[in-house]
Amino acid sequence: MFSNSEEFKETFLKRIEMTYGKTFAESTKRDHFNTLGHMIREYVSRNWIETNERYRTNKEKQVYYLSIEFLLGRLLKQNLLSLGIDKVVEEGLGELGIDINELEEIEADAALGNGGLGRLAACFLDSLASLNLPGHGCGIRYKHGLFEQKIVDGYQVELPEQWLRNGNVWEVRKADLSVEVPFWGKVTASNENGRLKFSHMDAEMVTAVPYDMPVPGYETRTVNTLRLWSAEPSPYPVNQDILKYKRDTESISEFLYPDDTHDEGKILRLKQQYFLVSASINSIIRAYRKQNSSLTDFHQHVGIHINDTHPVLAIPELMRVLLDEEQMSWDEAWNITTKTISYTNHTTLSEALEKWPVRIFQPLLPRIYMIVEEINERFCRSLWDYFPGDWHRIENMAIIAHDEVKMAHLALVGSYSVNGVAAIHTEILKQREMNSFYQIFPEKFNNKTNGITHRRWLLKSNPKLANLICEGIGDSWIKRPGDLKELEKYKQDHGFLEELYRIKQENKQHLANIIKEQTGVSVDTASIFDVQVKRLHAYKRQLLNVLHIMHLYNQLKRDPSFDIYPRTFIFGAKASPGYYYAKKIIKLINTVAKKVNGDPSVRDKLKVVFLENYRVSLAENIFPATDVSEQISTASKEASGTGNMKFMMNGGITVGTLDGANIEIKDVVGNENIFIFGLKAEEVLHFQQNGGYHSLEYYHLDKRIRQVVNQLTDGFFDQSEGEFEAIYDSLLMQNDQYFVLKDFASYVQIQSEVGDAYKDQQKWRPMSLINIANSGHFSSDRTIEEYAKGIWNIQGIGIT
Ligand SMILES: *Cc1c(COP(=O)(O)O)cnc(C)c1O
Repeated sequence: MFSNSEEFKETFLKRIEMTYGKTFAESTKRDHFNTLGHMIREYVSRNWIETNERYRTNKEKQVYYLSIEFLLGRLLKQNLLSLGIDKVVEEGLGELGIDINELEEIEADAALGNGGLGRLAACFLDSLASLNLPGHGCGIRYKHGLFEQKIVDGYQVELPEQWLRNGNVWEVRKADLSVEVPFWGKVTASNENGRLKFSHMDAEMVTAVPYDMPVPGYETRTVNTLRLWSAEPSPYPVNQDILKYKRDTESISEFLYPDDTHDEGKILRLKQQYFLVSASINSIIRAYRKQNSSLTDFHQHVGIHINDTHPVLAIPELMRVLLDEEQMSWDEAWNITTKTISYTNHTTLSEALEKWPVRIFQPLLPRIYMIVEEINERFCRSLWDYFPGDWHRIENMAIIAHDEVKMAHLALVGSYSVNGVAAIHTEILKQREMNSFYQIFPEKFNNKTNGITHRRWLLKSNPKLANLICEGIGDSWIKRPGDLKELEKYKQDHGFLEELYRIKQENKQHLANIIKEQTGVSVDTASIFDVQVKRLHAYKRQLLNVLHIMHLYNQLKRDPSFDIYPRTFIFGAKASPGYYYAKKIIKLINTVAKKVNGDPSVRDKLKVVFLENYRVSLAENIFPATDVSEQISTASKEASGTGNMKFMMNGGITVGTLDGANIEIKDVVGNENIFIFGLKAEEVLHFQQNGGYHSLEYYHLDKRIRQVVNQLTDGFFDQSEGEFEAIYDSLLMQNDQYFVLKDFASYVQIQSEVGDAYKDQQKWRPMSLINIANSGHFSSDRTIEEYAKGIWNIQGIGIT
C-alpha cells in the first residue's frame, strides 16, 4: 500500500481529491483525519482477512469476550503504532505541513464504558491481538457513550456524548450478518414424539446489526475483531404503533448506563444485556455451524467469557439454543454450556451485585426465565447433598429467591471458572462473599490480577519516557514487558536519573498547559503533582484527600512559615448523575480549590485543580505527568484498580492503602518504594462485622479533624447554607462508613513523609525508576497469558 513517506503522501493526496472532490489546499483537518483513517483500515484489511482464514482453517479455539463496556478511547495512534507505520505516516504528514498531534485531536474518544471495567476490556483486546491469541470482543455500539462532564459553578453538569456525530472511521457495518433478537411474547409447549418442544410466540423482534472494528496486534499479523451490536427495527415488526416500535427498538443501543456500581433497575438495561448476549451467541453459533456439523464439541472450539455479570444471560441463552434448536437433552446441553462459559467477578460491594425482579425478567424474556428456573431448581436440589437440612444457606445460595434473580449466582453455577481481579479480592470472594459456593466448587475459583496495556499507557502516551527506556535497555520490553526490570541497573546512574527527571518535568509542563487552558489556574511544575483521577465514589475516598488539603491550608494559615514542599493537587472524576453524595464531593473539591487558589498567602505552597471530563484521552496526558498517585480506597473495597498500575508504569509513586492491586504493587517494588497507610482489609471487615468504630470519638479527640469537619458547615469555604451537610452527616451522624476519619491521622503522616522524600531527589528518583522497572508485571500481556493458559486453554501460534 505504502512503504515510505513519498508513497504515503502520493496516496493520501490522491485520496483527498477522489473522496472529497477538493484540492489539498481546500481540505480540512477532518478530511485529513478521515482519509488517514480509511487508509489505515485498508492497510489492516489484508491481515484481517488472513487472520480469519487462519482461524478457520486451523480450527483454532476462539474466545469471545462479552462485555457491556469497552472504554477504547482514541485509536488513531494506537493503530499506527501497532501496524508499525507511525514513523512513515508522521513524516509524510509532516512534509505536507500536517501535525499528527492535531489530527489526533479530531478523533472523538470511544467512551463506551464507565471506568476500570470497560478500560480493562479495551486493554485485553490489545494484548490478545499482540500475543497472537484468537480472542475477540463483543459489545454494544452505544450511540451515546459516557456523558460529557462540564463543571459549572463548581457543580457537575452532564451533556450527552456524541462520538458518532462525524462517523466512526474504524468500523464496518455488516448488515448481512444481522441477528433477530426476541423480547416479550409468550412461550408455548407442544408434545413432539414424547419431547416437549417450546416456541416463542408473538415476540417483539429487534434486529441486531454488527459493526466490526479491526484490532491489530503490535507488530504481528494478527488482526482480531471487536464486534459492536446496534439495535434497529426488525423487518418483521408485530402489528402495532410503528413509530413507537422504532423508538423503543433504537433506544436499546442508544445510551450507556452512566453508573458503574448501583443498578437502576430499568427494563431497558436488562434489554441491553439480553440484546448483547443473544446477538453474540447466535452469531458465534452461526459461524461455528458453517464449519461443524454438530455442536457436541462446541466447548472444545469456543470459549465465552463474561466480564462481570452483565452478560450472564449467555448461560441460559446458550442452553436455549442447545435445547430448543439443537434438540439436545438437558444434561448434554448443560455439560457443554458449563464447559464454555467463564466469568470474572469485579466487585464485592453488595449494592453492585445485580438482581432482577422476577416481575420484570419473566415477561421480558419468558423462555430464558423458564430455563433459569430449571437451572435454579436443579441446583437447589443438588445443594441438599452438600448442606443437608441447612435450608437457610440453600435459600441464600439460590439463583431465584424472594422474587429476584441473582445474576452472580447464575454465573457461579453456570460457568467453569470464576476469577477475581487481584489476589486480595479473590481471597475475599473465597473466604467471605462467595464462601458457600467456594465450598462446593473450589476448583472453579482462581485469581487473575488485572493489567493494563503498556503499549498504550507507556509507549503511546509517554513517548519521551519510552525513548529513554529504549536507549537504556533496548526495545524488547515492548513485546516482553517483563524486560523493563533491566532498568534497575540504572538506579544509581545519575545521568539516567537526571534524564528521567527531565522527562517528568516536560510532561508536567504539558499538563500544566492543559490545566491553564481548561481552568485558568497556573501551576508550578517545580511543585509535586499529586493526582487522584478515577470515578467518584464514597469508597474511593476522594473526601480523605480533600480533608487533608483543607488541613494543610489551615496549617499554612495558622503558621505562614509552616514548611511544606509545594504541592499541586489534581483531581479528575465523573459522578454518576443520580449519585447525590458523589456530586457533593465534586462541589467540595471545587469549593476548596477556589478558596485555596484565590488566597495569595498560600500561593507558592498549595494549588488545587479539578480537571473536567476525565476520560481516556485526558488520562493519557495525566499519568506521564504525575509524581504522586493517590490510591486511597477503604481497604477491601477496591477489587483491583488499574489506574494505580498506569501511574506506576510512568514513574508515579503510590500513596495507598493495602487494597486491591496496591498490595501486589507493594510486593514487587518493596516497602521502601511505596507509601502505605491506613486500616488493613481484615480490620475494616472486623469493624463492619463487630462494630467498635465510633467516628465521633475521632472528631472529639483530634482537633485537626474537628476543624476540617466543622469547616464543612460553618461557611468557612462556602457561604451557601447546608451545601455540604450530607458530607458532614456521613462522617458524624452515619458513623463514617468508609473510615475516613479513622484513617485521617495516618494519611496526614504518610503525606508528610511523601513531601520529605520528594525534597530529597537522591532518594525520590531511584524510587520512581524502580516503580517503572517493576511495572511489567502489571502489563495486561501478563494477565492475558494467565487467562489463556489457566482459563481458556488457547495458545498463540508463533506468527509475527
Ligand atoms: C484506568 C481508568 C479508569 C480506572 O481507574 P481506577 O483508578 O482503577 O478506578 C477509569 N477511567 C479511565 C478513563 C481510565 O483510563
